[in-house]
Amino acid sequence: MARVQDEQGRVICCRSAVVGAGPAGLMCAIRAAEGGTAVIIERNKSAGRKLLISGSGQCNFTHDGEIGGFLEHYGKNGRFLKPALYDFSNRDLVGFLEERGLGAVTDKNGKFFPATLHSRDVLDLLVMECGRMGVKILFGGPVKKIEKDRDGFSLTTGRAQIKSEFLILATGGKSYPGTGSAGDGYAFAAGLGHTIIDPAPALAPVIVRDHRLGKLSGLSFSGSGIELWRDGRRVMSAAGDLQITHRGLSGPVILDSSRYMRKGDMIRVCLAGSGNAESCRFDLSARFRKGGPGTVKGVLAGALPARLAAAVLEEAGVPASMKLSGLKGASRDRIIALASGFPFTIECLGGYDEAMVTRGGVCLDEVDRKTMESRIVKNLFFAGELLDVDGDTGGYNIQAAFSTGSLAGKTIASRK
Ligand SMILES: Cc1cc2nc3c(=O)[nH]c(=O)nc-3n(C[C@H](O)[C@H](O)[C@H](O)COP(=O)(O)OP(=O)(O)OC[C@H]3O[C@@H](n4cnc5c(N)ncnc54)[C@H](O)[C@@H]3O)c2cc1C
Repeated sequence: MARVQDEQGRVICCRSAVVGAGPAGLMCAIRAAEGGTAVIIERNKSAGRKLLISGSGQCNFTHDGEIGGFLEHYGKNGRFLKPALYDFSNRDLVGFLEERGLGAVTDKNGKFFPATLHSRDVLDLLVMECGRMGVKILFGGPVKKIEKDRDGFSLTTGRAQIKSEFLILATGGKSYPGTGSAGDGYAFAAGLGHTIIDPAPALAPVIVRDHRLGKLSGLSFSGSGIELWRDGRRVMSAAGDLQITHRGLSGPVILDSSRYMRKGDMIRVCLAGSGNAESCRFDLSARFRKGGPGTVKGVLAGALPARLAAAVLEEAGVPASMKLSGLKGASRDRIIALASGFPFTIECLGGYDEAMVTRGGVCLDEVDRKTMESRIVKNLFFAGELLDVDGDTGGYNIQAAFSTGSLAGKTIASRK
């Protein structure tokens, strides 16, 4: 592939300069190169470090289903992505990889992976495609300064200067900064006149105050119902797989809901799994009403894993050996309330070193969603996680990066 190592004092002129060789930047450059020379500037010595670790090294790059159904997986800003997702959908992405020799497989939850289950194969394909399209990648020098003048953009890496007609910022968010995405793009965008919505960790685990179930760390539930409460009001509810960790809660339902969570909120978790609080209350009430000669723990263990049943009784202050016949109404109600909605108070969300994505970023009101071009600076484009939109787990973030990158690149290629 055409790779240019930058040298001291060198000036490189191109039609499109792309900052960042993640999925958004690589796809954008591949598309933009159809309209003229494209150069990617990447701070690392290799491309796509975050892509390599995605999906535990297997790269869950998109999700199954109709593309219209994707929009609800990006919170309130999902609508912004509609033109990009429809222009380069999940099916288009799978087709793009397959046409270039990389098949795809889905798991039982509808997540798409490369058939080889190696993220490296997705990355290699993208880098090869860049080479085929004549895209030059300048590795090993972060862009430090960006200036705009009448002739276009001027980028300084410390070792080279790049001059371009079009500029695409695809620098990612701030999560896992060791991969190279350290938030530089926010400063570049702000310097060019854009508003930045405060970035914060998203798809992050939750650290709870006074963790009562910490000793059950590692226990996981499938289809667990959760409710998020703030100032006595229910903010949202969701269901999915959940895991108790030594510091709090994790698992897809927690990660996906974390964009709505704030310090001090209460999460109520239905410990029965595969159900919501109401069905759990109904089920447990019926079990207690049925009565019998056994113990309270015996009744509870029919509905919850035994370790959780014991923890609920401890929290309710009811001895595990207590006979059903001796259980007072108030204690029964407390047990049912705890089992159907065990309360956890959020101390904080996991930081950027453990959040899979960053919420916040370049304000969407200032970007044309049909092209990804800035509404403030002509010929400036944005793609990927740098934008103020973040998706659920399941391949939605990488799809968004590819779709926005593709749309930006296609728009540039089509400009005279
Ligand atoms: C552990 C982990 C697992 C994940 N798994 C999944 C998954 O399975 N499915 C999914 O959909 N999403 C997953 N994600 C999220 C997904 O990887 C990101 O949303 C996606 O990579 C964003 O793509 P991007 O191109 O916008 O940014 P990035 O992939 O972050 O790429 C940005 C690039 O810009 C470069 N850069 C930054 N600043 C500069 C600068 N000043 N000069 C030059 N280069 C610069 C960086 O080095 C980086 O290479 C995961 C994230 C993590 C952390």
